[in-house]
Amino acid sequence: MNKPVDMQNIQTVPLWIDGKHKQASGARSGEVTNPATGRVIKRVPFCNAADIDTAVQSASRAFPAWRDSPPLRRARILMRFRELLDQNRDQLAALITAEHGKTLADAGGSVQRGIEVVEFAMGIPHLIKGEYSEEVGTGVDTHSLRQPLGVCAGITPFNFPIMVPLWMFPVALACGNTFVLKPSEKVPSAAMRMAELLKEAGLPDGVFNVVHGDKEAVDALLGHPGIKAISFVGSTPIAKYIYETASKNGKRVQALGGAKNHAVVLPDMTASAADLEFTVDGLMGAAYGSAGERCMSISAVVAVGASADPLVAKLKEKASQLKIGPGDGKDMDMGPLVTRAHRDKVAGYVDKGVAEGAKLVLDGRGLKVTEHQDGNFLGASLFDHVKTDMTIYKDEIFGPVLCVLRVDALDDAIRMINANPYANGTAVFTRSGGAARKFEREIEVGMVGINVPIPVPIAFFSFGGWRNSLFGDQHVHGMEGVRFYTRGKVVTTRWPDANAVPQGFNMPTLG
Ligand code: NAD
Repeated sequence: MNKPVDMQNIQTVPLWIDGKHKQASGARSGEVTNPATGRVIKRVPFCNAADIDTAVQSASRAFPAWRDSPPLRRARILMRFRELLDQNRDQLAALITAEHGKTLADAGGSVQRGIEVVEFAMGIPHLIKGEYSEEVGTGVDTHSLRQPLGVCAGITPFNFPIMVPLWMFPVALACGNTFVLKPSEKVPSAAMRMAELLKEAGLPDGVFNVVHGDKEAVDALLGHPGIKAISFVGSTPIAKYIYETASKNGKRVQALGGAKNHAVVLPDMTASAADLEFTVDGLMGAAYGSAGERCMSISAVVAVGASADPLVAKLKEKASQLKIGPGDGKDMDMGPLVTRAHRDKVAGYVDKGVAEGAKLVLDGRGLKVTEHQDGNFLGASLFDHVKTDMTIYKDEIFGPVLCVLRVDALDDAIRMINANPYANGTAVFTRSGGAARKFEREIEVGMVGINVPIPVPIAFFSFGGWRNSLFGDQHVHGMEGVRFYTRGKVVTTRWPDANAVPQGFNMPTLG
């Protein structure tokens, strides 16, 4: 049960439309809770179709002038926005921790990764340059342009309230689009703060808008004829629904879904104490950081041959020592899960793993955090001897539960990963260049780490998975982001000239 303090004094998060706060018109709303205390801290309005239309109208009105502003001017606004994000880094991290629960240090790291996308988008005058070929035919030249689409929308998940929206809108705005963001209703405040900072940076009113809500708001975005493209990040069933619905409605879509990320450990990495330490340190942060609520979390360790016993022993030792408490507590490794319902769902997966016969090496279910009895805390759990037909392997748990699967050889590990429906990230731990190269070439996953457990690409590369982890063709940020938020045009030019070849009646060959 959530614990409201005094509902009279609970603030309702406004919308951001036309460069100012606005109240939603609908009657439905939800609660925003602090995961460390279980208390309701805000209410969030659930927008209806009329609210969505107001936001899209605002973005549509702002589009022509924004599209026509020189890319360098758009880049300068993003430069000021980048400075403001940097100056407000601690406040933004605190907003994330208050609503998501992750530790302040982790929240700060995610703000940094978001800032890097803004830094990438600041290069838009160069990134958007077209190509030019002179004399493609006698007296004929050809050049290509990339132009913005119009109003674009972003629908984002709870687990990265700053970083995931920043994967989308800085690139969209830099390309000359206007934007409507619908953040997760569980963590609405960080998006509002970014809207204020964009205004302070000089962004014209209406270019960036924020709406809130659940399926009703999302469906209104998917069906709105004024929206040209949808970027979505969230769970796989919703990503698939977004992709199918928005595509049917004629929109361009990139829909990033859930994940089951494997880390393969070869026996050479457990042969020396130093390499074992290096590997397990990497796995600990990747599995239990942000309480496992990351789409790039490692949730399955595939232990090859003799690596399994030392690996499981070391993982157990380190996972038992994790410091778990409120995200704003001193030196915490792990905070609470986002909601009570999600905490209970993850604990239910631990029950299921035991029932299905996996060996529970470390049980996080009994954890109590003194003075935070109503927080959504769950300790770290570790399973060994997990099999691929068990629910804890098949489902995305999205919590602090790590499964170890034992195989005989690297080929078995590669086969297992390639057969998994998800394909977001994966990693291999080895000192062998040959094994790493084989893994890199044969693995069918979008993002691969070689001794890097969370291989989130830096902003000037693109982020995205394969199979059920991405519906659509273009990944986010990097050049694929620029391509997603623009469309190409090719112009062929000939000027009247005394020597011009006469225009013919037949298909021109430009010879
Ligand atoms: P979610 O799918 O429940 O929600 C994501 C967004 O969709 C939210 O804005 C939510 O309001 C909206 N939504 C929820 N139900 C809907 C419905 N029935 N119809 C229309 N819209 C709906 O995801 P979440 O729980 O907020 O986030 C966790 C999930 O996101 C995990 O599966 C995680 O792997 C995934 N994720 C993926 C990536 C990636 O890059 N692939 C990154 C972060 C998170």
